Amino acid sequence: MFCEKCGNKLPDGAKFCGGCGAKTEPVQPTNTAAEEPAPARPVAPPPSYTPPAQTAYASQQPPAYSIKPASDPLRVGQYIGMLLLMCIPLLNIILLFVWSFGGSVNLNKKNFARASLILGAIGLILSIVFGAALSSILGELLGGMGGYY
Ligand SMILES: [Zn+2]
Repeated sequence: MFCEKCGNKLPDGAKFCGGCGAKTEPVQPTNTAAEEPAPARPVAPPPSYTPPAQTAYASQQPPAYSIKPASDPLRVGQYIGMLLLMCIPLLNIILLFVWSFGGSVNLNKKNFARASLILGAIGLILSIVFGAALSSILGELLGGMGGYY
């Protein structure tokens, strides 16, 4: 057993080096088993993705309009047509859902539809909340006024 700092020979079991006073640490044989990291936690295999069942025609031959990249910028005419369609009641909601979740929809149109749906949902929730609050306030006011009689 020798000191790691100065190489002084040390008696077995010495805690400190007699030459330099450095604390001695017993040299251990390299224990690879102890340093081996714990085995990684078994990760559940990802669920095998099975594409939704489609007709053979759709899976084999996609429609022609989906060949071009779906992120092409919309033309002005497309925007006009899209916004005009949004003016039609009920049909606009259907179209928004179709565009939002459709497979081969222009990415711009899809994002527009999703944003419109989200805004519409927020507006609906807000109108419900504020409508309920307003009606309750009015109800209290009317009830309080009626209490004087
Ligand atoms: Zn020493």
